[in-house]
Amino acid sequence: MQEKQKTADALLHRINELHTPGERVRIMEVCGTHTVSIFREGLRQLLPAGIELVSGPGCPVCVTDQVYMDKALEYAKRDDVIIATFGDMLKVPGSYSSLSEAQTQGAHIHIIYTPLEVLELSKQNPDKHIVFLAIGFETTIAVIGATVKAVAQADVKNVFFLVSHKLVPPALRALLDRHIGQIDGFILPGHVSVIIGEKPYGFLPNEYKIPSCIAGFDGVEILSAIVNILEQRQSGQFKVGNTYHSVVMKEGNPVAVRVMNEVYDVCDDTWRGIGVIPSSGLTLNEAYSFLDAEKVLPIQLEKPSMDPKGCQCGSVLQGLIKPNECPLFGKACTPDHAVGACMVSVEGSCAAWYKYGFSS
Ligand code: SF4
Repeated sequence: MQEKQKTADALLHRINELHTPGERVRIMEVCGTHTVSIFREGLRQLLPAGIELVSGPGCPVCVTDQVYMDKALEYAKRDDVIIATFGDMLKVPGSYSSLSEAQTQGAHIHIIYTPLEVLELSKQNPDKHIVFLAIGFETTIAVIGATVKAVAQADVKNVFFLVSHKLVPPALRALLDRHIGQIDGFILPGHVSVIIGEKPYGFLPNEYKIPSCIAGFDGVEILSAIVNILEQRQSGQFKVGNTYHSVVMKEGNPVAVRVMNEVYDVCDDTWRGIGVIPSSGLTLNEAYSFLDAEKVLPIQLEKPSMDPKGCQCGSVLQGLIKPNECPLFGKACTPDHAVGACMVSVEGSCAAWYKYGFSS
């Protein structure tokens, strides 16, 4: 413990050396798990004034848009459908309701912990259609892709996937294109990078001349990434830094990437509050389209989808405002009564700010 404290002190000393007093440096931690760690370890307060850590779009639940939730809710209305989902999707608001509200009204909603549970669920419910809510970033995509293959191989006839996977690198490109000069560096997500490696972030140094660093999740690992980013800024030599070597290989996990490529095609996708980002989503490819819920069990939305009134999730997810700058934060919107998705997930920026008492 003492050793770790010494390392943290040395890293903070180095950060102070690298930072020019008065200079504003905005570093985005892309991943929601980093956001939570930064709060838990109190890192914001330790950094010199001027170095600002800004939360990004890396919480999968938070970026799942209303239209997707409205479709899930439409399926939930059907008596012949069981929705299989991770638990943190229950409270995500659709335009008019949430899955947890639907559940109290009798919808068949089954919480799963691993995607492969859908095989058992299908066996237990041969007379129902199982619609699995397939959301998440690259980390989850590989696991769900393996489940898609398992369902196809097992020749199961009643499991379908409602897919809204999101890809991290295109989102970072969109942030830089839309908000030029707002972000000075990226702390890149550790878990996603385990799958995709360093290469897909190459456009950050090569095209945008912006420093970035893949980081682990404890305080020392995050501070190391900040040092790496500031050193790149100082030297003007930009690269994809990686201070999480023990886990993230340069080439990522080729087996997981192969599964993703076998099962999905890249498509444009809508991010909550942000809108459409080119090539930022995945859809089941031709070979697996027979498992696509929307193709096999088409639905129609009864009412148009709409953003929750007053919710600023889009601005929060792009680092344009801090959660407490949303007028609803801590008033109309709390974890018990979430108006927007960023207040739902434990990895959502608004939920993290609320939990750690940053109300003003
Ligand atoms: Fe949306 Fe609530 Fe966050 Fe405001 S505080 S941006 S309403 S989730």
